[in-house]
Amino acid sequence: MIFVLKPGVPQGRIELFQQMIESRGFKTFLNTGTEHTVVCLIGNTAVIDLDSVVQNNEIVEYGRRVTEPYKAVNRTIHPEDTMVNVNGITIGEGMFQVIAGPCSVESEEQIIAVARSVKASGATMLRGGAFKPRTSPYAFMGLHEDGLRLLLKAKKETGLPVVTEIMNQTQLPLFEEIDVIQVGARNMQNFDLLTEVGRFNKPVLLKRGLANTLEELLMSAEYILSAGNSQVILCERGIRTFETATRNTLDLSAIPLLKQKSHLPVIVDPSHAAGLRSLVAPLARAAVAAGADGLMIETHNDPARALCDGAQSLDLVQFCDLMEDIKCRIAFEGKQIEVV
Ligand code: PEP
Ligand code: MN
Repeated sequence: MIFVLKPGVPQGRIELFQQMIESRGFKTFLNTGTEHTVVCLIGNTAVIDLDSVVQNNEIVEYGRRVTEPYKAVNRTIHPEDTMVNVNGITIGEGMFQVIAGPCSVESEEQIIAVARSVKASGATMLRGGAFKPRTSPYAFMGLHEDGLRLLLKAKKETGLPVVTEIMNQTQLPLFEEIDVIQVGARNMQNFDLLTEVGRFNKPVLLKRGLANTLEELLMSAEYILSAGNSQVILCERGIRTFETATRNTLDLSAIPLLKQKSHLPVIVDPSHAAGLRSLVAPLARAAVAAGADGLMIETHNDPARALCDGAQSLDLVQFCDLMEDIKCRIAFEGKQIEVV
């Protein structure tokens, strides 16, 4: 972090400013240029509120971070890719995984049928929401504990590890047998929840918020890692833009950028990005080509009757075709897909 001082500040005031910063545990050094004097800080500057230093010290013109505020998720600190281990299935560092299943668990018949079929097509994890965050309070909210129970039944039947969304930290005791805890887009900045899933010893799938920057996503991941849990998978699922032709806009550049800035695996959810079934396969192919470590695809045995997100869900045959299509593309990218 650097602070650029206003021109003509007397030496004594500069020293007082340096002493104030050093009293907070940082080292400083001074760079005296022809036009500006710059005070550089060394240490964990993530704890410093840059704006308040500028506002409270009239000799400061402006401040700037020269290193990213996220540390534990930063690739400079951890150059190797992180591999997340989901019950023996690994994601990241060349291992590609496909998570498939309905938006929400609706019945035993539905989740078992979908689980069997997506497994046969090559999916390596099963998804299904039991607690659903819905825009309308009158919409279907999921089957709650029953939904989790049915998901675990499908896991037992097929051996597929299961991924499901948590809405708040009081639900954590219900997630003991769940393999991956999903923190959804709407909860990406629920900091208490992030801290609690960080204390819980399970892989976390962290989805990017509807209108959040990549830095904000990485800072949310930082909450989880700094609470002790390094098993985090990042998920790009589309962001709000001015475009209305799609539900969201898939930010493809997020994939290489996140992988450059962080060591965590990155997966893509083209279903929520597009909102339209016909775009899921092309966006999935684009995600593979852009370097994603996995995909999450909403898949339903009868999308026309789905209680949630039917328009963006593939049916079982469409999912099978998608898997056939992407398998060789995944291999072409030098990645491996596991056989469950
Ligand atoms: C979901 O995965 O079903 C979901 C609600 O996703 P998001 O949080 O990305 O909207
Ligand atoms: Mn959904």
